[in-house]
Amino acid sequence: MLTFDCVVIGSGAAGMTAAMYLKRANINVAIIEKSAPGGKLNNIFNIENYPGFPTIEGSILSQNMYKQIIENGVTYRYGNVLEIKDLGDYKIIQTDLEKIKSKSVIIASGRVPRKLGLENEEQLIGQGVGFCALCDGSFYKDKIVAVVGGGNSAIEDAIYLSSICQKVIIIHRRDYFTAEETTQKKLKHLKNIEIKYNSTVSKLIPTNNKLSAIKVKIKKVEELIEIDGLFVNIGYIPDTNYLISLGIELDNDYIIVDEHMRTNIDKVYACGDVIKKEIYQITTAVADGTIAANSVQKDIS
Ligand SMILES: Cc1cc2nc3c(=O)[nH]c(=O)nc-3n(C[C@H](O)[C@H](O)[C@H](O)COP(=O)(O)OP(=O)(O)OC[C@H]3O[C@@H](n4cnc5c(N)ncnc54)[C@H](O)[C@@H]3O)c2cc1C
Repeated sequence: MLTFDCVVIGSGAAGMTAAMYLKRANINVAIIEKSAPGGKLNNIFNIENYPGFPTIEGSILSQNMYKQIIENGVTYRYGNVLEIKDLGDYKIIQTDLEKIKSKSVIIASGRVPRKLGLENEEQLIGQGVGFCALCDGSFYKDKIVAVVGGGNSAIEDAIYLSSICQKVIIIHRRDYFTAEETTQKKLKHLKNIEIKYNSTVSKLIPTNNKLSAIKVKIKKVEELIEIDGLFVNIGYIPDTNYLISLGIELDNDYIIVDEHMRTNIDKVYACGDVIKKEIYQITTAVADGTIAANSVQKDIS
């Protein structure tokens, strides 16, 4: 069985930062990722608030971080972590492909998009319903799409889609957006955006197994809107189901850590979007990753 001093779960900004610091401290570290390196960075068109880069594409920052950890000699393994067993001095990390033994584990598995919870939603994912405009927006060139949500990600998605699609309808349950002012200002100049405040999607209507229309409830009135695509952007929740058997302390699915990124389980740490905290940004993810790596270094040496 492969054995490491530390295994990092997830190669987003938090996980890659932790792995880089550990490797540079000469700790035998592996990172396990079930998808592409970079995590949420790959969903961001332009990042404008990461110091040192007035503007940088999320995918470029992600590639740079990946290059940096590989050049530093971090072991990178593909796999979906299904369970972690705590055997005292060692943890066993069970993925869909293998078992790995490690003295310590850093959980940096981020969050997943919150779903609407409507009938037909599961079967329409990838068939008109999506969660990432940057990933799937190009399928809707010159078409009509709707974005659900009013936070930063939703408004950024709407702005991005407006450059590709014929029309973008923003559906938001409140009568104001919570996105940053600078982001909202950009929205005001766009002519192909329609905003429906005080509105919620109440029904997804498929035709031949593809989304063809939605019903939108505006106050008490229901309106039928024909659309080609729907981007749901109503927040994120961590998928921490795989940690339940470990007995890790959670609050609404978020991992509880102390200021050193230690969880309630000895030599198990967590960082980035998966932890309960105030600010979910790249700057905080990399800071958490740095702190987690430092704690591992202190605890296992
Ligand atoms: C659309 C959008 C726009 C954003 N814009 C900005 C911005 O402009 N500026 C900013 O600072 N922040 C922005 N953010 C927030 C920022 O992207 C995140 O806070 C940050 O990237 C989180 O990093 P992370 O490493 O904690 O998690 P993630 O990036 O989510 O990485 C977690 C990784 O873990 C992997 N994983 C999960 N479960 C498992 C498992 N069981 N086994 C193996 N691997 C697993 C996932 O595949 C993923 O790659 C934005 C987010 C979104 C969604």
